[in-house]
Amino acid sequence: MRIDIATLFPEMCESVLSESIIGRARKAGKIEIHCHQIRDYTLDKHRRVDDTPYGGGMGMVMQAEPVYRCWQAVCEMLPERPHTIYLSPKGSTFNQAKAVELSHRPYIFLLCGHYEGIDQRVLDKIVDEEISAGDYVLTGGELPALIVADAVARMCDGVLPSAECYEEESHFGGLLEYPHYTRPEVWEGAEVPPVLLTGHHKNIAEYRHAEALRITAERRPDMYERYIELHPPKPPKRRRRRHSSEENNE
Ligand code: SAM
Repeated sequence: MRIDIATLFPEMCESVLSESIIGRARKAGKIEIHCHQIRDYTLDKHRRVDDTPYGGGMGMVMQAEPVYRCWQAVCEMLPERPHTIYLSPKGSTFNQAKAVELSHRPYIFLLCGHYEGIDQRVLDKIVDEEISAGDYVLTGGELPALIVADAVARMCDGVLPSAECYEEESHFGGLLEYPHYTRPEVWEGAEVPPVLLTGHHKNIAEYRHAEALRITAERRPDMYERYIELHPPKPPKRRRRRHSSEENNE
């Protein structure tokens, strides 16, 4: 997979994406992420990329042409048109299901706005969907783009040691995750739940699933209800009635 990020602050994105798991995956060639300076594509001799809004009002608007030229330059580097996303508070709220969907795409182009936003005409021309990081307004699309890039990249082959690493986590299977513990066994008088020390895989899996259900029901009743609708609890196994001949043989 390859992700291209178009922004006025590529260093801000690079600094985050060069660290930790994603940084290592990029170095190892497991995923390609490129950050592009939109300003490099302006034809203005002062390298301006914004102007005042038609109709008046506060703030500045990013111009269509540099954004379009940046997008075209990236398209020319790729064998096919990238799925193009504008990070915007007007978009659909990002979630794990969207991250999974995007992780199957070979090419993603993330467009970050700044100031009042971007001239609508270029959005109409190149954008496939708008994604929001949540119901609040940030100064720019860089943090939302980094969220999308991180959530998507960690599900690409080879970025994490195995799919189990993300499939068991909160949101992936419709539940919040169970709690984690590590050494020492007792810390400040608090003990690790004894079942986790038994090495009994089936009991541990059952305990963790029960904890995931409990935490989800407590913190996200909406998620819990959806999960229970899709996975109704199995009725307890009925005990087989003993045949009278079995009883007589005793
Ligand atoms: N005037 C815009 C509005 O009211 O919808 C907000 C512009 S915001 C100050 C500047 C840029 O930050 C946007 O173009 C967008 O790229 C990004 N942005 C801000 N909040 C965001 C959010 N919640 N999710 C995604 N992007 C966001």
